Amino acid sequence: MKLSSEVTERLAASGIRLTRQREEVLGVLLQKRDHPTAVEVFMRSKKHMPTISLATVYNCLEALVESGLVKQVNLDRAPTRFCANLLDHSHFFCEECGSVHDIEIPLQSPWNLPSGYLIKQAEVTFRGKCPACTSKNL
Ligand SMILES: [Zn+2]
Ligand SMILES: [Zn+2]
Repeated sequence: MKLSSEVTERLAASGIRLTRQREEVLGVLLQKRDHPTAVEVFMRSKKHMPTISLATVYNCLEALVESGLVKQVNLDRAPTRFCANLLDHSHFFCEECGSVHDIEIPLQSPWNLPSGYLIKQAEVTFRGKCPACTSKNL
């Protein structure tokens, strides 16, 4: 499967210690990029790795976030979600169905920053309705 080589390559490039559990957790995040919560990652990992525990999944996620392979998505009043898309992007949170979508950030900063500020990282969260929910309510 093509996915596992991407997982291995990413892990190797990050210098993080490779364990089967970390491989599994990263694989889950890369397979379905719907920004699952830790518990959802746990449920999916369990299908391939029945012995994995929720505590282990939390540990793996922490290590992956620390190594920069995975991003944490923090939303108000919602559990933290995880994202394996390493390209700069913002998140769009649908208030109707609770889904989280990746929104590409334009390379040129869209913000009108006063001179002297240099953006290293932008973390912007949009809230609203996703295309599926918008079309449903028409
Ligand atoms: Zn929606
Ligand atoms: Zn994302």
